[in-house]
Amino acid sequence: MSVTATKVARVLDGVAIAAEIKAEVGVEVEALRANGVVPGLVVVLVGEVPASAMYVRSKVKTCGELGIYSEMITPPERVSTEEMLEIVAGLNGRDDIDGILIQLPLPKHVDTKRLLEAVDPEKDVDGFHPVNAGRLQAGQPGLQPCTPAGIMEILRRSELEIAGKSAVVVGRSDIVGKPAAMMLLNASATVTVCHSRTEDLPRYTREADILVAAIGRPGFVTREMVKPGAVLIDVGINRVTEAAEVERFFPGDEARAEVFRKRGSTVVGDIDPAAFAISGAYTPVPGGVGALTIAMLMQNTVTAAKLRRGMGSGPLNLSIPDTSLVR
Ligand code: NAP
Repeated sequence: MSVTATKVARVLDGVAIAAEIKAEVGVEVEALRANGVVPGLVVVLVGEVPASAMYVRSKVKTCGELGIYSEMITPPERVSTEEMLEIVAGLNGRDDIDGILIQLPLPKHVDTKRLLEAVDPEKDVDGFHPVNAGRLQAGQPGLQPCTPAGIMEILRRSELEIAGKSAVVVGRSDIVGKPAAMMLLNASATVTVCHSRTEDLPRYTREADILVAAIGRPGFVTREMVKPGAVLIDVGINRVTEAAEVERFFPGDEARAEVFRKRGSTVVGDIDPAAFAISGAYTPVPGGVGALTIAMLMQNTVTAAKLRRGMGSGPLNLSIPDTSLVR
């Protein structure tokens, strides 16, 4: 099938949207502080994983910028599940802490699932606890996973229509694919979820008005797999270290080539950049979905602070009338 570009695709600027959200969160924090409430976040970082340490530093720094109290707990790599459960229990009991974030991945010997389920759902700012997953599905206010919540903010703030559109999510992880599908469904899109066992994947992706790719494979979604004019949301963050691959994804892109020469790598999403050219709008990598995650974490911390004190309802994810109980 041959597809041609009809007009210039719109870039959905995650950095600008994140700045907008952070500014709004800053105002909310100020109002809370005026009422004697200082939202507090604790980040638990186990061992020494350089990428995790970098993410955690950015989270702590952003807290400081927005007036949110933050604390970092750094147990050693050898910490046991039991010791981690004790740390979490201590944080659950602290009234000055509204949000608990356990930076993943954890060492293999630590039972991640058990630990995440031990976090008080009211302080679960990552939105991973089954109680919060259930609330999302039931359309009740609660804490929602940051990355998919960021996707919804991009769509809404860019005034892209969701209701009635065909949304296809490729990827079904608990942290991105599944909650993104649920949020799109709650916003009245007609949602299809694809995964590694999907037969004839392009048949679905080509029908998508909104295509969310959360796969973890560089440039997996090609130009031939998308509908011209579709909105492309690229969640993937893949480090590419081969010069030939950089040239394949970014032919003639001197800025990328320069980054690659300097760092020995560059990041590419799950969507081949060649597909962006025929889209209606797309999130770039970097500077798209990834830019939203910390902003949404800050928003969740403030939401948690308010919910715990009965000061507001948090994000309502249901935009359709609730008729489920009407018989
Ligand atoms: P994940 O847990 O590894 O899940 C990947 C999903 O992709 C799985 O559901 C898998 O299907 C599906 N998949 C894999 N190969 C496929 C194929 N050939 N065809 C169709 N589906 C396939 O990954 P994740 O945590 O959701 O992350 C996905 C990507 O988003 C990664 O690049 C990650 O770095 C990025 N990410 C970015 C952010 C951010 O922007 N802040 C946050 C989180 C993740 P099965 O379920 O059948 O195995």
